[in-house]
Amino acid sequence: MVVFWTYLLAFAVAFCFVFIFPQVTLILLFLAIFGLIFAVIGRAILNAAECFLARRILRADRCPRCASPGRMAPNSAGRCVCAACGTSFDPRGSELDPELDPKLDSPVPIVAAS
Ligand SMILES: [Zn+2]
Repeated sequence: MVVFWTYLLAFAVAFCFVFIFPQVTLILLFLAIFGLIFAVIGRAILNAAECFLARRILRADRCPRCASPGRMAPNSAGRCVCAACGTSFDPRGSELDPELDPKLDSPVPIVAAS
């Protein structure tokens, strides 16, 4: 949402400068285009940090999303499924979205040992 409002503000500034000093509009355009590269790099860094932290929590047999203790060992499909919240993670630590992964139609949660 912050990025949206930033780009909307940049659009408003660029629109005003079209009538005052048109070169500023071109500079803002190229800054926005090349700024996308830094946004993609920042997203990759944040994803890597999230996966690193999730792997550490998964090794401690806790769910990275709800922090409930339980057996988070990978099941036969190679996924770690939380018995409490049903969230599934791949062994690299990234959270799997059931809407994007057709193999997760019926996730079988691993029941915590009593
Ligand atoms: Zn959970």
